[in-house]
Amino acid sequence: MKPTTPISSLIRIDEAHAKALKRLNLATVGDLLYHLPARYENISDIQSLGSLVKGQDVIVYGQISGLKTRKAWKSRRPIAEGWIEDGTMKMKVMWFNQPYLAKMTQNGTYVKLAGKVAGSDGKLYLANPEVERLAELPVDRHDSIFKGTGADDETLYPVYRETRGITSKWFFHTVKRAFEAGVLEHIVDPIPEAILARYNLPDLRTALQWIHTPKKATHTEAARKRFAFEEVFAIQLAKQKERAETFSASSYVVRTEDDHLRAFTDRFPFPLTGAQERAVRDAMNDMMGAHPMSRLLEGDVGSGKTAVAATTAYAVATSRPRTDKDFGNLQIAYMAPTEILAKQHFLSFIEYFKHLPIQIGLITGSGCMKFPSKAKPTEPTEISRAQLLKWVKNGEIPILIGTHALIQKSVEFKHLAYVIIDEQHRFGTQQRRALAKKDDRIPHLLSMTATPIPRTLALTIYGDLDVTLLDQMPVGRKPIITKTVLAPERDAMYAHLRAELESGRQAYVICPRIDEPDPDKEMALQAKSVKTEADRLAKKELKGWRLGVLHSKMTAPAKEKLMKEFSDCKIDVLVATSVVEVGVNVPNATVILIEGAERFGLSQLHQLRGRVMRSSHQAYCYLLPESTGEKTLARLKALTTAKNGFELAEYDLALRGSGELYGAKQWGLTDLGMEAIKNMKMVEAARTEAAALIKKDPSLEDYPLLRERSASIMGTLHFE
Ligand code: ADP
Ligand code: MG
Repeated sequence: MKPTTPISSLIRIDEAHAKALKRLNLATVGDLLYHLPARYENISDIQSLGSLVKGQDVIVYGQISGLKTRKAWKSRRPIAEGWIEDGTMKMKVMWFNQPYLAKMTQNGTYVKLAGKVAGSDGKLYLANPEVERLAELPVDRHDSIFKGTGADDETLYPVYRETRGITSKWFFHTVKRAFEAGVLEHIVDPIPEAILARYNLPDLRTALQWIHTPKKATHTEAARKRFAFEEVFAIQLAKQKERAETFSASSYVVRTEDDHLRAFTDRFPFPLTGAQERAVRDAMNDMMGAHPMSRLLEGDVGSGKTAVAATTAYAVATSRPRTDKDFGNLQIAYMAPTEILAKQHFLSFIEYFKHLPIQIGLITGSGCMKFPSKAKPTEPTEISRAQLLKWVKNGEIPILIGTHALIQKSVEFKHLAYVIIDEQHRFGTQQRRALAKKDDRIPHLLSMTATPIPRTLALTIYGDLDVTLLDQMPVGRKPIITKTVLAPERDAMYAHLRAELESGRQAYVICPRIDEPDPDKEMALQAKSVKTEADRLAKKELKGWRLGVLHSKMTAPAKEKLMKEFSDCKIDVLVATSVVEVGVNVPNATVILIEGAERFGLSQLHQLRGRVMRSSHQAYCYLLPESTGEKTLARLKALTTAKNGFELAEYDLALRGSGELYGAKQWGLTDLGMEAIKNMKMVEAARTEAAALIKKDPSLEDYPLLRERSASIMGTLHFE
């Protein structure tokens, strides 16, 4: 039995299993071994119903039946009740004041219940248990779960990621069978022994056994640590390889002087912040050196990234050749994620450059522009794409701003020296080379982002970049007023909202859901939906105001149209899901209400709040939590104390784990990989080891398994 053996040669696979395995992308026994459990149930904690006594806090497993709701006869309080049965006995279950719980679960469902035993002897019942629906019971009801094994071993049962048609039990037994068939003998560890030894990590064989068939909690922890390290290490290898390749390529050396840049920035209507100064200096130090810059500029919305982009672009556009090897007439490409943003950057650049004889071009899917032109010295002129491309190719236009249209084949530069990227995470060495076309120099890169992620995640997914943090907001800007609003204060808040609208401002109302949810899931009903909330507001607090509804299920043109109406002030209040967090900029909007605020991560709330941070008017963010628990309120308070979004991302990670992170899913890391980023030491170790290995063996000649692992993991990531 080898890791490359198809699973179907190990075990007979029926159609349902075949489908499920295909969906999970598992074909070989090796794939199966790398399909790791998501968590464990410690079944030695489970009690059998027959053994329970009054007052105990218990976890029981069983099948539920006889669900119904009724009103308590005296208090008229709603009660949901049913029966749980685990093979030892059948016990009553009651939920008070939570009648929807009975409707959420169906008779016959397997469940895990965690609650308190109440009642009197002989008439015990389980009170207000939390319900977790299960696809199956952890072990067959007739075996050891209700007896205990008698040994010291904990009885941990692996739970795999849920999928239709295949159970955790199936995985458990199939993996066990693969072990029995000797697959581990053919397993070779891709990670060098010395590295495992340095961090005290189990080797692959041991780790596989420990993770799939653990005997002790310490085993699962050690094994998970190993696989988490392996994932981050594999990513770092790819990133460090990219970094080394970029670094060894040649680039255009930029020649400039401080005084020269000072003359440019002195014209700004504001002084640069210290952070902006530092960012410009970091970038200039890189670009004046012999190697291509690869730098990430992280800064909150409004921290002034565009001014940094403009100043460094100016340095490049006016770079003076001093030796035979230098070039003049260097060019800059500045790419934005949307047309609206590209146009905005174009207009900002015109402001920054209008006193200079430096041409600026704009290229988007819907047309091209140029500034200045002979006919129109003060405003941009529309020009044909062909004309623009000609001038870019012969070097007459040094600065080209655009959307993805910038990286099409037809766009050619004469001397592309510098690429600035706004919020695009998938822009790597390959894209840089592609942009440079036949030029054998690769352009310097400044990648700018406001996406609040913790440092460990940045080090992982941007492992090939150096990071500059723009951690200072421009002075004089009115900080946004953020307030948590409880039910009794709602009226006053709406009154304030109307006053803002009255004075010509606009607002956002954010809801956690799009539609009224499935009536079966009454729990979810508590989260406000965009559609019903818009209807409600239209009839009540915001009667007479123009409301628009925006959510992720709308088509892109419909969204765009609505956003245009909002930015043209044809809509007063946009009721939206969190889709507004990206790319929207309406300076006239000064208020944002966030319903169900505690459902969002702090960094996401911060992103949402960024929507009203642009205005020169005082802006307000009202957080409207559904629950008023102490923890909820304390967590929301962080939004008023944290200095920036990156700090909030650290809070998210520390307080609620990686699942809470902004766009946690979007990076494509596995759950274990996300676990790893909680651990700065591990991330740093993976980075250091990867850099050392790449230095020794740049293409991993001597480490074919690692090379494969690294390539395959990069295939599953999508840094966008
Ligand atoms: P970002 O792209 O980082 O979100 P912008 O570059 O769009 O931010 O800048 C936001 C606003 O702040 C712009 O109106 C810009 O002119 C202004 N701004 C930038 N730097 C400063 C500064 N140092 N002092 C005052 N205002 C600034
Ligand atoms: Mg910006």
